[in-house]
Amino acid sequence: MKKILTGIKPSGVIHLGNYLGMIKEVIEFQGKYEIFLMIADLHAQTVPYSPKELRKLTLDIAKSLVALGVDPKKTVLFKQSDVPAHLYLYWILGCLVSEGDLRRMHEYKEQKEKHKENVGAGILMYPVLMAADILIYNADLVPVGKDQEQHLELTRELVRKFNNKFGKLFKIPQVYIPSETSKIMSLTNPLKKMSKSEPEGCLEIFENEKRIKEKILKAVTDSEAVVKYDPEKKPGISNLMTIYKYLTKKSYHEIEEEFKNKGYYEFKLAVYKAFMNFFKEKRERKKRLSDSYIQKLLILGAKKANKVANENLEKILKATGLR
Ligand code: ATP
Ligand code: MG
Repeated sequence: MKKILTGIKPSGVIHLGNYLGMIKEVIEFQGKYEIFLMIADLHAQTVPYSPKELRKLTLDIAKSLVALGVDPKKTVLFKQSDVPAHLYLYWILGCLVSEGDLRRMHEYKEQKEKHKENVGAGILMYPVLMAADILIYNADLVPVGKDQEQHLELTRELVRKFNNKFGKLFKIPQVYIPSETSKIMSLTNPLKKMSKSEPEGCLEIFENEKRIKEKILKAVTDSEAVVKYDPEKKPGISNLMTIYKYLTKKSYHEIEEEFKNKGYYEFKLAVYKAFMNFFKEKRERKKRLSDSYIQKLLILGAKKANKVANENLEKILKATGLR
């Protein structure tokens, strides 16, 4: 069976962008691929964080994933830090990567701008760890949101470099980016992507209902009062339309017809109702999952992930002269 690796950082709680950009694809691929889904706790350390909060968020994200439909019988759900082989390969790849390539990464530039006084080398090196995450499983496919495209290109480049130098050990992983929902925009700034680390603009899936309604009704739009899909001129409304389209399975044209001669308030109210309707069961399911059950799942997941990763690591150590 072909393999998938992907992950999510416990840097905040799961939002609609995470679901539409990556999680729904993973769920769709279950049973068709061998899936490794990691809670990327090492990646979460690249920006300022509190240990207590990291522990809490790690468990919360794992629980949310299961509530959303990640099936632990079909998907290996694990914590990145539970599989040390990732870090071993990270070092090896870090010695191959060009420092200039890392400085060109968009996310590095953004984070550097955001955390001026607090930029550790981890932010610069993070795409190398991401390459190691993927390659330690020799994954065939990596489902991610559009923001990760550049990092995937770097991974592919690292495979070429590694294979040229040490023999053809790795496959070049394919990136899988959903066509319409790969970049859900922030509700407070529709020119920026929705990001866990900026919770004000996030539509958090398990947030209380009152906040969800408030956030949708307050979403930044424009002054035209016409529900029309035009991402260039109307990024806020178009973003809400993309969300509504996925939740209701209607086309953009149908949505435009539905809200012809109606105001933004009515449209936003419909988005809120569609959201609650779509996630109702999943939100209920999360309440029923216990911490101890999730902790057991993560331990079991780590066992399975370690087995595959360590087998590959042996080959890597031999090929690179360390064994
Ligand atoms: P952070 O702000 O800490 O980087 P994040 O919201 O970007 O958090 P990640 O954990 O970095 O979330 O990413 C998890 C997955 O969700 C990745 O595959 C990423 O591409 C995808 N993703 C993140 N934000 C969006 C978005 N706004 N639209 C679509 N996909 C997204
Ligand atoms: Mg991110």
